[in-house]
Amino acid sequence: MSTLTESSRPPLRVAIVGAGPGGLVLAQTLRQDKRFVVTVYERGAPEGNGSSLVGFRILVTPAVLDSLREQLPSKVRNLVDRAVGIPKSQGNRVCLMDETCAVKCRVDLDESRSLCSISRWKLRNALLHGCDDFVKFHKEFKSYEESEDGVNVHFANSESIQCDLLIGADGAGSRVRKQLLPNSSRSDSGVTVIYFKAPFTPETEAMIPWASGCLAMTPRKSMVVAYYKNPAKPYGTYDLENIDPEDSFLMLGMGCYTNEFFNQSKHPDAMTPEELKDECLARAQHWHPLLRSLIAISVPKSVYVSHIKTQDPIDPWETGKVTIMGDAAHSMTPYLGKGATSAIADALALAEALKSNEKEQESLTERLAAYEKSMLERGFENAKKSMFVHQLVFAAGNTPWRAWLRNWALYVLDMFIRHPVASVEPFPVSYSDEIEKAKSKG
Ligand SMILES: Cc1cc2nc3c(=O)[nH]c(=O)nc-3n(C[C@H](O)[C@H](O)[C@H](O)COP(=O)(O)OP(=O)(O)OC[C@H]3O[C@@H](n4cnc5c(N)ncnc54)[C@H](O)[C@@H]3O)c2cc1C
Repeated sequence: MSTLTESSRPPLRVAIVGAGPGGLVLAQTLRQDKRFVVTVYERGAPEGNGSSLVGFRILVTPAVLDSLREQLPSKVRNLVDRAVGIPKSQGNRVCLMDETCAVKCRVDLDESRSLCSISRWKLRNALLHGCDDFVKFHKEFKSYEESEDGVNVHFANSESIQCDLLIGADGAGSRVRKQLLPNSSRSDSGVTVIYFKAPFTPETEAMIPWASGCLAMTPRKSMVVAYYKNPAKPYGTYDLENIDPEDSFLMLGMGCYTNEFFNQSKHPDAMTPEELKDECLARAQHWHPLLRSLIAISVPKSVYVSHIKTQDPIDPWETGKVTIMGDAAHSMTPYLGKGATSAIADALALAEALKSNEKEQESLTERLAAYEKSMLERGFENAKKSMFVHQLVFAAGNTPWRAWLRNWALYVLDMFIRHPVASVEPFPVSYSDEIEKAKSKG
């Protein structure tokens, strides 16, 4: 495999495949630097190709958000600031409960409490600021070949370009990874999660069974309730057929083994949004009325179906002129909400490796090799933690007996966790300060 030579910079021609959070953060952090010419090649359209995924939210650690803010151009930074949602007084603490909403364990990790909820839509728009100069849409990467002069990159429309460094930020099904590491594989968990949004109003906010969000677990099924609260407009006035990506929203994620869907007449990918909603309602027939009501008010058009897979571990490879990042390298199960934050952390680390001139004695190839090693370690560490939660929800709850034992163990664990004094969350409904304020106003 050929390696990068110092003579190939400056300016280094960097081609990034994929305009997800990872690829766009990398592009924005490099493009101000004259030593790089950066182009992002995205198969989709500027508005996100109609995928409802772009309308959801992501959770980012404050440390990642801070270093992101530091490295972004000021205009983009200001736009990113507007994408950060209003946190609950208790942050993103998560409550593990059963389907009757009986609280089993309140997860009080500092790590989860301080997470910042960011509108994926607004983050994307912020990161696309000035994109005419550096993103090419409707360009589907097909293959590449390396030569002494660089990398020839080929697209599905028969066009080709040349660059010095090719970066695969093309998500979990990455074609760049498949060519770079043909033996890499992903494991299917057999679980499909159906995500819906629901209107976020003072009334529906009060319906969140545990104010900072919850994960309800029942044998072989799960339901996540989370939210994004837009600081500019905390409560939407809604067109009930559609939730505008700019609006605040409740987010529901209903997990179940794909071959155990109530509706066996077709594959989930072939179901209409209404059929998917009916599927969720059917599953929840005997669940707590609050959980059923949340499903009932969800907006069918907002649906996003995700088949849960995880990337099998990858060992560092011989560093060359092609590398990968984010989901392309270490896609993970969703229960810890760490995929996007990992992709952004990779982008920041890769930008630092490329820009770094502190250790001039180190070649670019050596710096890239160090990035790849630490990216894989960090990414797969997160993937491992995420898989632990997935196993806790599914494998450890695969039979009513196992679920009972797991819930009992969680209940005991909760007694040993030190909970903040102010963390008493009245159950089943905790009316928010906003409702009280609204009442006192009028
Ligand atoms: C509903 C939902 C909620 C989530 N919530 C969270 C959360 O709270 N916190 C969190 O950290 N993570 C969350 N995730 C996971 C997170 O979305 C991903 O981990 C993250 O988007 C990965 O970013 P990325 O840039 O690596 O890849 P992606 O976001 O997958 O972006 C890849 C891009 O590459 C493009 N592409 C793919 N193939 C090609 C090709 N051949 N040619 C050109 N372009 C191509 C795609 O169109 C896409 O734009 C959530 C996921 C879902 C589905």
